[in-house]
Amino acid sequence: MSAFDDILQANQKYVGGFAYSGLTGKAARGLAVVTCMDSRIDPLGLLGLKAGDAKILRNAGARVTDDVLRTLVLAVYLLGVERVLVMPHTDCGMSKVTDADVHALTYAQGVDTRSLEFHTVPDQSAALRHDLTRIRTSPFLPDKLPVAGAIYDVHTGGLVPVEMP
Ligand code: ZN
Repeated sequence: MSAFDDILQANQKYVGGFAYSGLTGKAARGLAVVTCMDSRIDPLGLLGLKAGDAKILRNAGARVTDDVLRTLVLAVYLLGVERVLVMPHTDCGMSKVTDADVHALTYAQGVDTRSLEFHTVPDQSAALRHDLTRIRTSPFLPDKLPVAGAIYDVHTGGLVPVEMP
């Protein structure tokens, strides 16, 4: 008995109906999406995409970190990405705490996290604009790369554009 039995069993079923063996690692729709790890977000479903269509980059808060930039460079130059959507969401846990709050919460559980930056989001639209600018001004990404920002509403399923090229 393993804590992962359920997902291994589910995978056995998935293999039975597997239909994606012909795909390559290139993003067929030329899209990369940067979004949050929030478990309510189904990035492929909400954008009308399927496996093979897009690169999905997820982290806490949909932040454009150094690692997201690194991944976007690879996605653009090696993996067919021609446009980037940064998609944070409503009711995001990262917008409800500060880094100091997180440090205090973990410290209360005996862990000192002060050497980590959590990139919490005190102002969601300011953070989104900052992150879009980070992509647009990256010296490693094409000047004309279309970069959009939109906020996903976890209660309606709707996408509210914030910046669209
Ligand atoms: Zn979130």
